[in-house]
Amino acid sequence: MRHVAIIGSGPAGFYTAEALQKHYGEDVAIDLIDRLPVPYGLIRSGVAPDHQSIKAVYRRYEKVGLSPNVRFVGNVTVGGDVSIAELQALYDAVILATGAPDDRLLAIPGSDLPGVVGSAAFVGWYNGHPDFAALAPRLDTPGAAVIGNGNVALDVARILSKTTGEFAGSDISDHALNSLARSDIRDIHILGRRGPHQIAMTPKELGELGHLGEAAPHVRPEDLPPLEDDALLEPGMRKSVTHLRDFAAAAPTAKRKAIHFDFFAMPVAIEGDDKVERVIVERTTLTEDLRSVGTGETHAIPCGLVVTCIGYQTPPIEGVPFEHGRGRFANAEGVIGEGLYCVGWARRGPTGTIGTNRPDGFEVAEKIFATFGTANSGKGGPGALDGLLAARGARPVTFQDWQKIEAAEVDRARAGSPREKFTSIPEMLAAIAG
Ligand code: NAP
Repeated sequence: MRHVAIIGSGPAGFYTAEALQKHYGEDVAIDLIDRLPVPYGLIRSGVAPDHQSIKAVYRRYEKVGLSPNVRFVGNVTVGGDVSIAELQALYDAVILATGAPDDRLLAIPGSDLPGVVGSAAFVGWYNGHPDFAALAPRLDTPGAAVIGNGNVALDVARILSKTTGEFAGSDISDHALNSLARSDIRDIHILGRRGPHQIAMTPKELGELGHLGEAAPHVRPEDLPPLEDDALLEPGMRKSVTHLRDFAAAAPTAKRKAIHFDFFAMPVAIEGDDKVERVIVERTTLTEDLRSVGTGETHAIPCGLVVTCIGYQTPPIEGVPFEHGRGRFANAEGVIGEGLYCVGWARRGPTGTIGTNRPDGFEVAEKIFATFGTANSGKGGPGALDGLLAARGARPVTFQDWQKIEAAEVDRARAGSPREKFTSIPEMLAAIAG
């Protein structure tokens, strides 16, 4: 029996557990350790609540979580309850699947003013993540700026635009649904420092903005490159740009809210007395290698809320080599050092879709199998971890405990919603106690 600890129970963690099971069958004991009492990471707290079909992949992870040689060990903090060095002493392999939960910081003057929030916090807020449930973003303002031209910027703009009715069937947290219902936001500016051909938005997500009940997307025709240039784009990108062209050509509507695509607009400062009142953007132009450079021409966008959606980073762990420039663990194809691996965003940085994490898990599982084979491990494994945690007074949560939390969340859901998440750890633990 080989013993493997995976830290993080999001998609990367579950795909890796699944891959290890395929290689080892029953000859491996896997502990999936998570600091929260609930599994699934980004599926629960990152994927937009109105994208339930994407979230449905958790059913696949559930099968892994219920198999006899996989344990969910929730409510246990690595670096607090147990250290990496201690886990390495207990397990043949330790795999970091900790994702990239921290925002990349927008380093411009005023980015610390009240009213500026990072997408990790804003997304965590509407998804009921315990760290961000109390965020209370400013919505009593007519203008919002969403900085970045990726899919997260689209998620944020769409959530700010939807009506209460359009959240039917979603699992948006009640506190966010109620706040958004009272929102005064009417003008949402999506700021891209480059142009329409440089967006990181996928067609399905972009197309959704064209079908909102009370909001319409606006693109300035003069920002679009000549139509014939679209032929040079790969097919997915061409579809996305076609959506932008459709938005630019659309007839005016009477919809209450406007989503403005501001291209070639680089935020250079955020200003206001005590709180955000405007973002100063500099008009940009592109260099031959498609980088943005400022032209010196600036203008102000009035807004009381700024959400930065400029990518994420992995928090470093003491003693684990880290690539600061790229915000991920220093690794060679998933290997950090002897017996220490990383997968998913902790390995590659925050790119790709949920499914991109699957091959990562398989690659690392193959490496572990090739290194350790199936000979008996001399390590203490799960039993030894339990002893250590009990001695420290930790309160690990099992997969069966999680299922009690899940059942309680389903029970308390508003009509038509799949669940109403608990937004604090004490509430989650109380649900286990019944
Ligand atoms: P992303 O795709 O990397 O996009 C980040 C955006 O921020 C880029 O447009 C980038 O512009 C811009 N940016 C970076 N630094 C900036 C700065 N200092 N000032 C202004 N703009 C700046 O990141 P993301 O949107 O956070 O998404 C993360 C990953 O999750 C992506 O792989 C995404 O596809 C995925 N995701 C998928 C879905 C879905 O499939 N439904 C939903 C959400 C997220 P430049 O290009 O100029 O650098």
